[in-house]
Amino acid sequence: MTKFEALGLDKPLLDAISDLGFESPSEVQEKSIPILLEQETDLVALAQTGTGKTAAFGFPMIQKIQQDSRTTQGLILSPTRELCLQITNELKLYSKYVKGLNVVAIYGGASITEQARQIKRGAQIVVATPGRMKDMIGRNMVDISKIDYCVLDEADEMLNMGFYEDIKDILSNTPKEKFTWLFSATMPKEVATIAKKFMHKPIEITVGSKNAGASTVQHEYYVVGGRDRYAALKRLADANPGIFSVVFCRTKRDTQRVAEKLIEDGYNAGALHGDLSQNQRDLVMNSFRKKQVQMLVATDVAARGIDVDDVTHVINYQLPDEIETYTHRSGRTGRAGKSGISMVIVTRSELRKIKAIEKKIQQEFLSKKIPDGIEICEIQLYHLANRIKETKVNTEIDSYLPAINDVLEGIDREELIKKIFSVEFTQFYNYYSKTKDLNSQDSGKGTGSGKGDIPTEGSVRYFINVGERDGYDWMSLKDFLRDTLNLEKEDVYNVDTKDSFSFFNTDAQLTEFILQTFTDFKLEGRFINVEVSKNPGGGGGKGGKKRRGRKGGGGGRRGGNKSYKGGKKGGYGKKGGKKKQGFY
Ligand code: ADP
Ligand code: MG
Repeated sequence: MTKFEALGLDKPLLDAISDLGFESPSEVQEKSIPILLEQETDLVALAQTGTGKTAAFGFPMIQKIQQDSRTTQGLILSPTRELCLQITNELKLYSKYVKGLNVVAIYGGASITEQARQIKRGAQIVVATPGRMKDMIGRNMVDISKIDYCVLDEADEMLNMGFYEDIKDILSNTPKEKFTWLFSATMPKEVATIAKKFMHKPIEITVGSKNAGASTVQHEYYVVGGRDRYAALKRLADANPGIFSVVFCRTKRDTQRVAEKLIEDGYNAGALHGDLSQNQRDLVMNSFRKKQVQMLVATDVAARGIDVDDVTHVINYQLPDEIETYTHRSGRTGRAGKSGISMVIVTRSELRKIKAIEKKIQQEFLSKKIPDGIEICEIQLYHLANRIKETKVNTEIDSYLPAINDVLEGIDREELIKKIFSVEFTQFYNYYSKTKDLNSQDSGKGTGSGKGDIPTEGSVRYFINVGERDGYDWMSLKDFLRDTLNLEKEDVYNVDTKDSFSFFNTDAQLTEFILQTFTDFKLEGRFINVEVSKNPGGGGGKGGKKRRGRKGGGGGRRGGNKSYKGGKKGGYGKKGGKKKQGFY
């Protein structure tokens, strides 16, 4: 018996679950599904984003619905069109072996008559945004007077968005003797009010601690001058070549402006906000899902609930007004048990907001430094080297080889490598070598060393040629270094793992010893190379950080040569967004 079977789910669902590759239920699923299957009850379930709430209500609802009746029996309300479509798609996948079950999505911005037609054909489950739902009730296009189950999904956000009155109206069209299941990431007063007003003795379940952010997310902040926000954003992106991120701005205008600037600078970016037409929003969301857009710049409302896995970074270009909102933002990453990073760009005057958020999410932020130009160049350079190494050779090139050989005659291997790298690297380097330190306050620590010398004072940053693809994250790499070097806990810090290489710091007194230890050092037959990084800095703060390089996934970014001169305009990442060869 599988774990899902033990929850009381029937074969059609179990088959779909195995097709989906879900191995075991998540906590919120484990807690809600048996209750909802066995009891007719109201339920309030609090769980962070990305914990599988859709299936927690979706599985029981699908199993309880009579698919041979065409009556609408289940209603799911969700705050946004994107989320509405997402839930509908998930439910369709879950119910693929349940014959005759129709799930219909109704939401604004699309043809209401078409949606009415779909309802008319028989929709046992309707997934709706509140606005369109009210509209359709008003026009007698949908009948929810016989529903058995009503789900309020992302209830906190629906209330945030001012849907209270709409929800009240909609619920007044439903029968009294139905059961209401409320799902929410957080439990602000307003949600408690809804639960009190519209629900009858709900069973309450909580996963994790109330209002806590996802623990798989690391929170970092970067202090910069107010005018350097954009430059800082660019550096954060450049320092993370595989970035796949949602960038949050406070207003629609800023969202549009930042996205436009990024696109102009050659990034695969797109804007998502309420002033765009539905068609534009769909386009950008599709590109984002396909990872053609690597940086989705969004307002809180537009991005709410979007379930795109593998988001590596959430970047708070500006902090939100409400602390609750921060929880929702950072919940866009670290989904389904993966780790993620939530970065906040702040000015000094906003620092107390960080403290307030820390208190709310009960997690500490790491204070980090915006990487300087040299560190970024290093990262990009090694990234490029690895990309070259991993590129599959295109055999079509064979026939051109004689001609290419003619052109490159007389250039030896080393020279050739240097030239190849210079093609991509020089422009990048030129851009960054002229840039200033963006960090608002100085950490004061540096190596003070000249090229090639072994630094003797301050903190020293090292490059090491192992990274996440070798199975390390910052914690395990730190352990490895400490064990190998026989050091104390605090001796190794600012460990920063990338895909195929990493950085770390020690105090300069240890440098000679470290370089010596790693001379001709072999691990499992492979040379481990440690060098003093040209970049003295590295993050501030304690610990170090965990980073997930996103492997594969399309969407080349940064037409290296073009990026910093302004490339193509507009386009929200359509046309595949793929630039020629980016600087990797
Ligand atoms: P939430 O509504 O809590 O934010 P979702 O329902 O959108 O979370 O689920 C997040 C992701 O996790 C989705 O991609 C979903 O398909 C996946 N998922 C849900 N349940 C499981 C499970 N039991 N095992 C593996 N993946 C799951
Ligand atoms: Mg959800």
